Amino acid sequence: MMKAAPWPVTLLFALSLALSLWLAGVPDWRWLPAALAAWYAADLLSGLTHMVMDYRPCTPGIGLAEVFHYEGSRESADYQALRARVMPQISPFERLVYDFKNHHPRPDALGRRPFLVQIGSTVLFAGLPAALLLNLAAVIVPLPGWLIAFAVVLIIGGTLAQYFHGTLHRSDNPWIVQAMRRIGLLMTPQAHALHHATLRRDFATNNGWSNPLVNRLFNLAIRRGWLHESGLEPL
Ligand SMILES: [Zn+2]
Ligand SMILES: [Zn+2]
Repeated sequence: MMKAAPWPVTLLFALSLALSLWLAGVPDWRWLPAALAAWYAADLLSGLTHMVMDYRPCTPGIGLAEVFHYEGSRESADYQALRARVMPQISPFERLVYDFKNHHPRPDALGRRPFLVQIGSTVLFAGLPAALLLNLAAVIVPLPGWLIAFAVVLIIGGTLAQYFHGTLHRSDNPWIVQAMRRIGLLMTPQAHALHHATLRRDFATNNGWSNPLVNRLFNLAIRRGWLHESGLEPL
């Protein structure tokens, strides 16, 4: 199971972004194209991360395949004992890699996770460090306001990527998610179903704007042998 982001960390993250926006000054028209470009870039980040995590091989021969393909009840003591034996052998990063692969046969589990669990690893390892670095940069160098706005939207979009992915696997979503889907700022479950049907395309899960580019990069990576089909499931 992924860890939840502790709420003080999440609060610090939000305050750090607010500080950057305050340092950015009064918004002007350039903030709009900057924000849209950042919304694309966040989608691209989500797509590239998802692509690499889906295909990055797990450590073979330590029992991950048995956990992945376990046939019986996942509530059983037998399964719990297997997990307790296997999972401590892998690093937190490999646990994330495993979770991406595990999402394919069991997609709805992601939608059932609480918000702070969905964004937990991303806030801790990427969102908060990036937000604090942006504070530092904005204090040291006089960055233009639109550039700070770009960075803030990119950090928000990147950090919420797994939450947005989760909304594609549940039906009861907040009104804002529905509204953003209607105007194309977030992708639809129908569009994301293409990924689950093939596992070879449409890795981006925020709004899907970058999927044409990510699909090209995926095909190139497969042709060149940078990614292998065998990485999709633990061995
Ligand atoms: Zn996937
Ligand atoms: Zn999915």
